[in-house]
Amino acid sequence: MNGKVILVGAGPGDSGLLTLRGRAALEAADVVVYDALVGQGVLAMIPPNARRINVGKRSSNHLVPQHEINQILLHEAQEGNNVVRLKGGDPFLFGRGGEELELLAEHGVDFEVVPGITSAIAVPAYAGIPVTHRDFTSSLHIITGHTKAKAEAQIDYPSLVKLNGTLVFLMGISAMPTIMEGLLAGGIDPDMPAAVLERGTTAHQRRVVSTVKNLVEDACAAGIKTPAIIVVGRVCALAGQFHWAEDRPLGGLRILITRPRELMSAFAGRLRALGAEVVELPSIATQAIPDNTALTGAFSCLDRYQWLTFTSPSGVRIFFEELRRMRRDVRCLAGLKLAAIGPSTARALEEHGLQIDLMPERYDAAHLGGALGVAANGARVLILRAKIGSPELTRALERAGVGYDDVPLYETVYACANAELVKDQLEQGEVDYVAFTSASTVKGFVGAMGDLDYSKLNAVCIGEQTAAEAQQYGMKIVTAQSATIDSMIDCLTGLSRLKEGGV
Ligand code: SAH
Repeated sequence: MNGKVILVGAGPGDSGLLTLRGRAALEAADVVVYDALVGQGVLAMIPPNARRINVGKRSSNHLVPQHEINQILLHEAQEGNNVVRLKGGDPFLFGRGGEELELLAEHGVDFEVVPGITSAIAVPAYAGIPVTHRDFTSSLHIITGHTKAKAEAQIDYPSLVKLNGTLVFLMGISAMPTIMEGLLAGGIDPDMPAAVLERGTTAHQRRVVSTVKNLVEDACAAGIKTPAIIVVGRVCALAGQFHWAEDRPLGGLRILITRPRELMSAFAGRLRALGAEVVELPSIATQAIPDNTALTGAFSCLDRYQWLTFTSPSGVRIFFEELRRMRRDVRCLAGLKLAAIGPSTARALEEHGLQIDLMPERYDAAHLGGALGVAANGARVLILRAKIGSPELTRALERAGVGYDDVPLYETVYACANAELVKDQLEQGEVDYVAFTSASTVKGFVGAMGDLDYSKLNAVCIGEQTAAEAQQYGMKIVTAQSATIDSMIDCLTGLSRLKEGGV
């Protein structure tokens, strides 16, 4: 049976601009066919088990020709796959979406279209330019600077100028001199405001606001490159007053985060809310220990313990999954005291209706062991954590003469999808900071990246152990003041301010 092709507009770059329908389609995809303009953040939403086909390498010599793309879509759908064809912006606005549907329609393959937010409107919006404004203009015209035949020759500049609306040119960077000359010859006011907007809606977006007569020179001086759009019209002058995207606390920063997938979204969400562009590269994954006899053993004699201690949110999650699998009730924990290494772990317990009794002053294994050594006062402790846990915890308990059982709940495995894309970005200096929330994420990240000049990377580390690991690869390191996500975010906000100040 045939599958289906869903033509999805990915928006102009910022992953928050993908539509809900677009995301639902991605989540159900078997195969995703995408091209160069699709933002990293959107690519990260492709489920790990879906096959990815990149048909738009930036350098044009790798570009897959259109007729081949059409064939790929047809073939994959005929194999019975749910195919998502992801395209930058809106698929029908200079996106050749129409051409891609022709072959499918001919062969009776089902398709759907999910419109996207187009760069023609969103890129100006992120630069503080409303494409229409009642005081200045009442129409918007979107024009391509590049068509099948010689583009510039086809544009009727005198008519465009007469419309007196906002003009947005896509794919017009190389033809910019011709376009500006055409407008001037068509009678436009040489002092009419005009702007070039590069990589709009991403962390590294840039804008040059000028006039029709000076735009080419000013854009050249700024070294503007594609992808960029040209906007001509009085509304461009509003950018000076309405710019906002870069002004957010983490605006202008592209941050790579490496946490395990299940912990990713909360951190990423907070960074995005503060204006950062987040690239997600889950570098480690946690795997519950199968047939965990140590755990069942501990459970069969829970009354031996007075304390349970957890050292990570993953540990808490897996513990409760195991509890459920063993058909044990949370009431079996009644009477036990609970210790957590830090606030995230404490919060994970709270989500299960449990309030902790102890959390160390500093959120690391040594301090947890120290505090428990005093609090346990000779009573036995059940440690529930990763298979390879820090020996500092048990060492501190031994020093205090406290008996314990160290029960492994999970193993950390190093696993990275889409490592190649991220590596490209790192090599090109496109990532401002890499955030590491544990020493194991550093290990997983380095394992996935392999050969790379790590001395160029700016690492923001959650604590000393993580920093020590990153140090081994020569990364430039900043360490959060206290070992929490909040503190990491404070640290990044401070770094962003420094960057703004040009330091
Ligand atoms: N379907 C897309 C346009 C495809 S044509 C849409 O609706 O946005 C490709 C052109 O879009 C580029 O040459 C550039 O002019 C523009 N473009 C796409 N994304 C952009 C971005 N993030 N910043 C600036 N221009 C962009």
